[in-house]
Parts: sequence; structure tokens; C-alpha cells
Amino acid sequence: MIGGATQLVAIVGSPISQVKSPENFNTWFARHELNLAMIAVDMREQALDAFLDSLRGWQNLRGCVVTVPYKQLLATRLDEVSERALALRSVNVIRREPDGRLIGDNVDGEGFLNAARQHQFQAEGKSALVVGSGGVGSAIAYSLCQAGVSQLTITDVSAERALALVDLLQTAFPSIAISCEFNSLESFELVVNASPVGMGGSGELPLSTDLLNSLKAGTLVADVVTSPEITPLLAFARDRQCPIQTGPEMAYAQLGNLGNFMGVTPLQI
Ligand code: NAD
Repeated sequence: MIGGATQLVAIVGSPISQVKSPENFNTWFARHELNLAMIAVDMREQALDAFLDSLRGWQNLRGCVVTVPYKQLLATRLDEVSERALALRSVNVIRREPDGRLIGDNVDGEGFLNAARQHQFQAEGKSALVVGSGGVGSAIAYSLCQAGVSQLTITDVSAERALALVDLLQTAFPSIAISCEFNSLESFELVVNASPVGMGGSGELPLSTDLLNSLKAGTLVADVVTSPEITPLLAFARDRQCPIQTGPEMAYAQLGNLGNFMGVTPLQI
């Protein structure tokens, strides 16, 4: 029950009814008997500046998770952002400091890595392919570089977007071999679909059948798509004896990062 003394966190996006964070956070708060609650906010873009002003003045609100389509828009309007959020030009979480200042970070990539670690995947020294260089693909690629992969390949239907991400990462991580070139999946220890391909039962695969046939057993194959949980890519990989990581696993593994940044949960939950 929300009462007068309840401390709040929010999640903002539009639409918002599909998000799982309120259920996940509120279940965790209730289980730990904390007087905290998450509310979901469906906000019009025209009202975002007024919303940020309200966050600055909202004294019983600790922070706000940011989802589509506002991750990029809000990154430019906060008082401070982390180095990675600045590089990615995108935030998915905001902390409200007691003086009202708003600080942003992007922990999408950390959530992905947490879930991968649960599959015994340690990024250091590994070779990875990220399909899709939009918001989530960029965040995952950045975190893989921070975690020390030795080789990273980026691919996207928009070659321009993929190249821009390669440029950004090469500047930030000059010692890692980063490119858009590949003609087989054989050398990868991790293959991630970070594009929306496979969403909503479309049956589509994000890579050609020729390429998929070069996937080797043992490669961790991950998808960011949350519905369906087992995407066509994951079903294919499972048939090839590859370990798989689902979109909901990534989303759940990120809760501690989001909550910890807002100061309402420990890092590991
Ligand atoms: P986005 O629009 O910013 O980026 C998607 C990218 O995929 C674009 O660059 C697009 O060109 C590329 N793309 C599309 N089709 C492709 C194809 N066939 N091959 C290669 N690249 C292709 O979107 P986003 O915000 O990065 O979200 C991507 C997906 O991630 C969505 O389905 C979203 O629901 C999901 N998501 C999951 C989590 C999670 O925790 N599991 C978190 C956030 C977003």
C-alpha cells in the first residue's frame, strides 16, 4: 500500500503498460518489507522538460528508470551523466540527489553481462558478435569492451550506424580489435541479437541461414527480445547445442543495477 511516507521511484516511457519493472521492483520491495514503490509514467514528449523539473523538486522520489522512446532525449537534459552514458548518448536510469540534481547512467549493458555471467560467460579475452547497433546494442557492445573482450564485431542493416558505433568504441577502447567484417560465426564465443528481429512472433532470424549454419556448439547465443522468450534465433541455437540467454533474463539481471543506482536496492538482488 502506498502511504504518505512511502518513498517512490518511477519508470517513464510511452507507451508504458508493457513494462515489467514495476511488478519486479514492487514485488522485491514488498518481499523485503520496504516502504518503497515504483510507479509507471506514460509521458508525452512535449511535457518532458516539465517532467524533469518536477523530478528535481519531487522530494519523496529517489529516481526514475527510462525506457523507449526517451533514453536518448533525456540523456541531453540531465545535470550529470556517467562516462558511458555520455559516450552512448543514452540513459536508462536517473538518480535524484537530495538537492534535486538529476544524474544519469545506462546499465543495459551491465544487465546483459550479469545474465551472461550466470551462464558462466566471462567476457575477458573473448570474441563477440553484436547484431544491431541501436540503443541496446551500443550499450551491450560498450559493456563488453569495458569487460575486456579481445575482439568485437558489430553488424546492423544500417551500415552507417554500425560504423558509427565501431568508431565510437575504437576511440574509447583503442586496444580492442573492433570491426564490422565477418563471414562466419565460427570464431565467436558470444553471438547477441540486439535488434528487434524475432519480436512478436514474426518468425524472423537476424542472421542468414548460411551464417547460422557456421555457429559452433558451445557459443553462447543471446537475444534481447523479451517476447517471445524463446525467439527463432534462440530456438535455432538450442538445436545446435549452444547455451542460450533470453531477453527476460537480461531484463531481470539488470534490476539490481537500476535499483542500486537509484539507491533503493543492493547491486545484487
Ligand atoms: P533501436 O531501434 O535503438 O535499435 C535497433 C537496431 O537494430 C537498429 O540500429 C536497427 O537498424 C537494427 N536492426 C534492425 N533489423 C536488423 C537486422 N535484420 N539485422 C541487423 N540489425 C538490425 O532499438 P533498441 O532500443 O536498441 O531495442 C532493440 C530491442 O531490444 C527491442 O526489441 C527492445 O524491446 C529490446 N530491449 C530489451 C531489453 C532487455 O532487457 N531484454 C532492454 C531494452 C530493450
